[in-house]
Amino acid sequence: MTASRTPEQDTHFGYETVPLGDKQARVDEVFHSVAGRYDLMNDLMSGGLHRAWKEAMVTAVNPPRSDKPFKLLDLAGGTGDIAQRVVDAGGAGLHVTVFDINANMLAVGRERAQKRSLDGVIDFIEGNAEELPFPDNSFDAVTIAFGIRNVPRIQSALDEAHRVLRIGGRFLCLEFSSVDTPGLDKLYELYSFNVIPRVGAAVTGDRAAYQYLVESIRKFPKPKAFAQMIEQAGFRRVSYTPMTGGVVALHSGWRL
Ligand code: SAM
Repeated sequence: MTASRTPEQDTHFGYETVPLGDKQARVDEVFHSVAGRYDLMNDLMSGGLHRAWKEAMVTAVNPPRSDKPFKLLDLAGGTGDIAQRVVDAGGAGLHVTVFDINANMLAVGRERAQKRSLDGVIDFIEGNAEELPFPDNSFDAVTIAFGIRNVPRIQSALDEAHRVLRIGGRFLCLEFSSVDTPGLDKLYELYSFNVIPRVGAAVTGDRAAYQYLVESIRKFPKPKAFAQMIEQAGFRRVSYTPMTGGVVALHSGWRL
């Protein structure tokens, strides 16, 4: 008997509709391909703005400046950019686990951390955010920056983030959002679809990866709908802050 596919089994890879089970492999290809040039591309595409957006998340994490123990899990942490920023902002008690499904992204991060002698402070672990290999209540904070829209089963990843966070801990998610400022929306649309894939092609040799990036941003839920998904995972006092006219949003929720 042939099993019939229900619409729930499909998802989006950019503008393409793909079986849910196929999305991760497609996403992995994108990040394998761009890993070496990933951080440079972030600066080029955002004109350096990604630094300010990430700093806003680090400020919200508010790591202790003392030797008080504080464990952060950075999901889809890639090359460890968030981890390094949190380490720079925090004290001697800080430990960051960078968790990502892509070995190439982690390898870039590991090398960078070694150069700064941060081996004991930042760990790099390969795995899927939909199924975390950590016990319940094991982190003081969980972050994810520009990662959640790449995860095929977003709700599973949110449920897992909630499970591993301690009671009283904070979840923070930085993600591209929807620009609804008149004038800026048109400009952003033109820039996204005309400039980003071309720059991506020139710098990484992979135009398709950056075409996926801009399409996946358009397919991601609106900030209010995403806040509801965070609430559905069990988080409380869920809020979000749009930045740069809604280009990105920082969502926050607490495990209470
Ligand atoms: N957080 C980093 C930053 O802000 O620079 C990297 C963000 S990068 C745009 C997206 C990352 O999500 C990639 O490193 C990719 O491998 C990771 N990713 C995609 N699907 C994942 C999954 N299911 N579980 C864990 N990481 C995933």
